[in-house]
Amino acid sequence: MPERTAFIGARVVDPVSGRDEVADVLVEGSVVADVGRDVSAAGATRLDCHGLVLAPGLVDLHAHLREPGREDAETVETGSRAAAAGGFTAVAAMANTDPVADTPAVVEEVRSLAARAGICDVFPVGAITRGLAGEEMAAIGEMAAIGVRLFSDDGHCVPAARVLRNALQYAKAFDVVIAEHCEDPSLAEGGQMHEGYHSYTLGLPGKPAESEEIIVFRDLALARLTGGRLHLQHLSAGGSVELLRWAKAAGVRVTAEVTPHHLVFLDEDLVTYDTNFKVNPPLRSPGDREALRAALADGTIDAIATDHAPHAVEDKEAEFDQAPPGTIGLETALAAVLTHLVEPGLLSLSRAIEALSTAPARILGSSEHGGPIEPGRPANLVVFDPSADWIVEPPFVSRSRNSAFLGRTLRGKVLHTVLRGRLVVADGKAQR
Ligand SMILES: [Zn+2]
Repeated sequence: MPERTAFIGARVVDPVSGRDEVADVLVEGSVVADVGRDVSAAGATRLDCHGLVLAPGLVDLHAHLREPGREDAETVETGSRAAAAGGFTAVAAMANTDPVADTPAVVEEVRSLAARAGICDVFPVGAITRGLAGEEMAAIGEMAAIGVRLFSDDGHCVPAARVLRNALQYAKAFDVVIAEHCEDPSLAEGGQMHEGYHSYTLGLPGKPAESEEIIVFRDLALARLTGGRLHLQHLSAGGSVELLRWAKAAGVRVTAEVTPHHLVFLDEDLVTYDTNFKVNPPLRSPGDREALRAALADGTIDAIATDHAPHAVEDKEAEFDQAPPGTIGLETALAAVLTHLVEPGLLSLSRAIEALSTAPARILGSSEHGGPIEPGRPANLVVFDPSADWIVEPPFVSRSRNSAFLGRTLRGKVLHTVLRGRLVVADGKAQR
C-alpha cells in the first residue's frame, strides 16, 4: 500500500488548469491521486492546510550551486536543501563551475550529486562555449543527447555575434534553448553598478543600461535570423523589455526571466556600499524596475528566476570593487514576490505561481514540474502560509549568507515541499 498524504482545505492555485479554490489534495505514492472537496482520506496522513496555499512546486531556471569547484560557498546538496526550503522542486544549475559544465562528464557529475542528495530535481545547464571562453562551441550536441535542455555561458555574454549565431543554429537542430547573460563586455567592463545619478554621486564606475540592451537587440536579431530558441536571463533594463515585446510580437522564439532582486531593489540601495546589493546585471533605476514589473505582470517576461549566487563570506566582505557580484535567492524568492508584488496588487497570485513554476518548467522542457495538479500527475508541490511574516537572517539553509534581503521582513513562508509525493520539507523543517 503506497503512502497516502491528504492536504486538507488549502487554497489550490494551479495556473495550468486555472484552478484557484479551496480543495483537498490527496497524494498517493509519488502522484496526485485526487483533488476536490472532501476527498477520501482514509488511511492517509492528514495535514490541515486551512489558510494555506497549495501550488505546483517552484522551478528555478537560474541557480549557481558552485559544485564542482567552490564547495566552500555551496554544494549541490546544500543548494538542493536551500531550494527545497524555498519551495522549489526543480532548479537549473548554471554551468560556470570549475571545471565548467561544457562536456557530458561534468553534467553527469552534477546529476549524480543531485540524485544522491535526493531533495530537489537538478537540471544541469551546459555551457555554450568551451570553458566559457566565448570562442569554440562546447559539446552542445553530446550534452543535448543526454537530456540537457538549457545552454548558457552565464556570468559572461557570448561576445562574438558569429559564435552566438552558430550556437542558435546548432541548438535548433536539437530543439534546445540558448540562454544569454546579455551584457556587452566592452561597455560594462570595470562597472560596479548601474550608470546614472547614484554611480556619479557614489563615485563608482557604472554599467549603462545600454550594455544590456545592445546585446538583447543583437540576440533577438540572431534568433530571428536562425529560428533558434533564445532565453534572456535576468533582464534589468526597461529598454530590454521594449525590445522583447517587439520581438515576441514579431514571432521571434524568445523567452525571458527577471530576478526577485531586480523586481524589488534599486541602484539607490547601494548608498551604504553594502556588497549584498552588488549584483550582475546591476540594480537599476525606478523606471527600469517599473518596466520589469509591468512586463512580468503582462507576460512579456515569462519567468522569475533567482540567480542564486552564493559566495564565501571572505569574498563578499571584501572592498566593494573587489567583491564578487551576486546574492543568494532560493530561500527568499517566493516571499519576496508575495511581499513586494502580490500583496500590493501588482501581480495576481496565480500569475506569480505561473512565473515561478509553470513558465520555467515549460522553458526547461520538464513535464514533471509546474503542474497541472491533477490525478495521475507527479506530486511536486509547495504549501505555504501567505500571511506569515519572518525576518531574513542567518542561519540560512544555503552554505552562504550573502542575501540582499538580509534583515528585511518578508511575508509568506514555505511549510511543505513535496518531491514526487515525499515531504522533503515538512512544517518548515527539512526531512531526512
Ligand atoms: Zn548572469
